[in-house]
Amino acid sequence: MNRRIRDIPPSGIRKFFDLITGREDIISLGVGEPDFPVPWHIREAIIYSLEQGYTSYTSNWGLPELREEISEYYRRFGVESSPENVLITTGVSEGLDLSIRSLLNPGDRIIIPEPCYVSYKPLALMTYGEAEIISTSPENGFKISGEDILKSGVDAKAIIIGYPSNPTGTSYTKKELEEIADAVIEKDLVVISDEIYAELTYEWNHVSIAGLNGMEERTVVLNGFSKAFAMTGLRIGYAIAPERILNAMVKIHQYTMLCAPISAQKGAIEALKNGLKDVEEMREKYNRRRRYFVKRLNDFLPCRLPEGAFYVFPSIRETGLTSDEFSERLLFEKNVAVVPGSAFGESGEGFIRCSYATPIEKLKMAGDLMEEFVNSL
Ligand code: PLP
Repeated sequence: MNRRIRDIPPSGIRKFFDLITGREDIISLGVGEPDFPVPWHIREAIIYSLEQGYTSYTSNWGLPELREEISEYYRRFGVESSPENVLITTGVSEGLDLSIRSLLNPGDRIIIPEPCYVSYKPLALMTYGEAEIISTSPENGFKISGEDILKSGVDAKAIIIGYPSNPTGTSYTKKELEEIADAVIEKDLVVISDEIYAELTYEWNHVSIAGLNGMEERTVVLNGFSKAFAMTGLRIGYAIAPERILNAMVKIHQYTMLCAPISAQKGAIEALKNGLKDVEEMREKYNRRRRYFVKRLNDFLPCRLPEGAFYVFPSIRETGLTSDEFSERLLFEKNVAVVPGSAFGESGEGFIRCSYATPIEKLKMAGDLMEEFVNSL
């Protein structure tokens, strides 16, 4: 067995999933997945493409029409790219793997602010890179600053920033990103910017760090259709990156994946052409749930109001339990599933992640049960 792979622990989210699979009696705030179906006109476009016989491979790069749509669409986040700078991937998951593998030589360091999405560190380790962790906390809004980056080790090559963040929901203003960009340029780093929750930003319009001065040539933007368009199972995403990086990424992609599924690419074209109003409707619903649930949680657990995504990350420190113990007992005693903060890195200990991608009635029930549980401790 490959020793690196053997020694990487399995995802802490999956562990909890396995415990609740098939249990109808559980209220799950554990899943990082929209509860809305794929908008009907997108499904219809996919069905129609199948009827027309679109079942072949596409170019490794993806359908030209989709690459064009994406390059146009990303202008709203401040990025002027050409379709040649867009690679269609099987989800952001593949984009993360391709970008990390393209950038790191064995032993190269990559800065990863934590708590963060579960795959960043394992993917860096799988490519024989080394992760340099920067811990964040609610005191600084779970944000990294330019100063944090300047204080990090001298030899890092890249940094992964995911915003709005899974698990904390934290996002960055343009001003905060400009400060990060200055530090990134001073340290000569490449940024992998995971913007999968860009559309689910509630307090301001999402800004891509790739659009800031001097950043386009050193940023790999990753985004996709899983969250904004509720298309998780269709496995479709994209990378926007400078030619030198994208050429390396497509090399791995052509040998390992070949191309993203053509049906999903057809659906993605329809999503960008006619689906933005659906995104807006879903965003409004998530926003209402966000405000409701944060207020309710604060009756018994301290929780900051996150700026984006569909997660809240309350502190459970005052209960004296570890995040694993809290989540396990909440599940067994009250049938409510959440994810222990420790699944997202050491600095996630003392917190739990709750997804509010669930109807408000269920959030109400979950809030009552969680309060009963906390009061019983
Ligand atoms: N990045 C983040 C921050 C995520 O939360 C997720 C999924 O939960 C992914 C990437 C993976 O997304 P995809 O479904 O596009 O592979």
